[in-house]
Amino acid sequence: MLAGQMMYQPLSIASLIDHAARYHGGTEIVSALTEGGFERTSWAQVAENARRLASALTHRGMQRGDRIGTLAWNNRRHLELYFGVPGGGMVCHTINPRLSPEQMAYIIDHAGDRMLFIERTFVPLIAPMREKLTKLRGVVVMGPRDPESAAQLPGVLFHDELLAEGDPGFAWAGVDENDPSSLCYTSGTTGNPKGVLYTHRSTLLHALGANQPDGMGIGAADSVMPVVPMFHVNAWGVPYMAALAGARLVMPGPRLDGESLARLIEDERVTMAAGVPTIWLGLLNAMEANGMEKTSLRRTVVGGSALPPSMRAAFRDRHGVQLVHAWGMTETSPLGTMNAPLAKHLDLPFEEQDRTGNGQGRPLFGIELRVVDAQGRILPNDGETEGQLQIRGHWIVSQYYGQDGSALTVDGWFDTGDVATIDADGYMVIRDRAKDIIKSGGEWISTVDLENIAVSHPKVANAAAIAARHPKWDERPVICAIRRPSVELTEEELLAHYDGKVPRWQRPDRVIFVDSLPIGATGKVVKASLREDYGDVLWDDAMKELDAEMTQGRG
Ligand code: AMP
Repeated sequence: MLAGQMMYQPLSIASLIDHAARYHGGTEIVSALTEGGFERTSWAQVAENARRLASALTHRGMQRGDRIGTLAWNNRRHLELYFGVPGGGMVCHTINPRLSPEQMAYIIDHAGDRMLFIERTFVPLIAPMREKLTKLRGVVVMGPRDPESAAQLPGVLFHDELLAEGDPGFAWAGVDENDPSSLCYTSGTTGNPKGVLYTHRSTLLHALGANQPDGMGIGAADSVMPVVPMFHVNAWGVPYMAALAGARLVMPGPRLDGESLARLIEDERVTMAAGVPTIWLGLLNAMEANGMEKTSLRRTVVGGSALPPSMRAAFRDRHGVQLVHAWGMTETSPLGTMNAPLAKHLDLPFEEQDRTGNGQGRPLFGIELRVVDAQGRILPNDGETEGQLQIRGHWIVSQYYGQDGSALTVDGWFDTGDVATIDADGYMVIRDRAKDIIKSGGEWISTVDLENIAVSHPKVANAAAIAARHPKWDERPVICAIRRPSVELTEEELLAHYDGKVPRWQRPDRVIFVDSLPIGATGKVVKASLREDYGDVLWDDAMKELDAEMTQGRG
């Protein structure tokens, strides 16, 4: 071996908060309180409290690798846990409060959580299941002591008391970079949710890799608002990237309606935000309703489901906000692709630049993508051939938590369950979830395309496309649409909006107007539930038509 070495320091989450405290200690963290109002703290204070928590948990018997559950909104106490739990060598297991109590109990038990931090408002949710959660050693309410919670949950602890008893000089639990740091379960729309166990290393590399100029691009001068919940894939890593960059954080708490967000953005001069399309739809409506044109917001990263091009254009043209399309999943930490132009795109006509900008973007450093057919054969990156999207990289799952066996293909790729195209430059476009795509007469119809067209109609507030069963074609597209308030819109009018935008055979067979769409725990439309309600709407008429055709044929 050659003499000469470089320093080795493990890639640890503690190193992120140490950096933020050391060089950006005075930078503010603004946090909406669950009970209303705001509080202001700083990276230095978050770092101190994280050490206090790590110390208090250790003294109360928590050990390396122990899972510490959280059931909380985006606020500073949750942020303290994001750093304190892994800093103490334990695993921060974020739980989605919008799950059903049964699913929640399943996840807490499956994870083997030993301590559970909850918002005060979730005490009535946890109290009835507390006895069944036999692996739990304690529940902590995230706030000061309050007698009501203490009465409902005997033996309950309080976050602020743990802070008081913890040592601010606690030495971080020198972890190995491959030690687990965090745990998040997939949304599990079918079957039981599966756990993805992130490591310190994967989290650090994700924060570094996804916060490049063509990625999240968060800098120290930004005020960043993660609307994406901290219980969903580490809020896309935004809290960790903000620490790495030394950015100011604005944590929106539980009030995520358009009005509240619009006010928060303006009051706190937010420059950058991240969240799912439904959130930005709410913000857009609130801004338009209040005649707000200018905003401090410059960039918003949008992912989790497809960003409709019409929404991207509305933010850009009417409010000067750049919406950056990103794609990822729980199994991918989550960021896999983000959309930024190449030098060669800058000289292209606007429409062509726009077309590239509407897709899900290209792989970040550290990520590779490919599309394959049903037999696993690799398909060309020609921007046209649709196939199953597979991924590999530094922050991609290889085995689900607590499961035997690999989660990968024999040659080491993770199959995402998405159907996509990839072009020669690596730009990827999601056509659909494999289980949602409409299979009509042997051809595929993308529900994403049909939805983008529906929501581009000025009288449509939101829409989802589903596959309805059909005796002749197997499946045909049906649109479930919500009209904008107090407008008239007929089925024929909306169907006519598809003319010239898709080939005739892809035009939806029906429109069903609904008052609301079922939204799942992570803010996405639950297509399975729509298919249950409307999957048979075409069947009877189509059967009659088919009978008539056959009778005519015989006649
Ligand atoms: P989850 O693990 O709950 O975050 O869900 C991941 C899934 O969300 C992906 O496999 C995609 O089907 C979908 N998804 C995420 N981002 C996008 C996007 N930008 N466009 C379309 N679908 C997306």
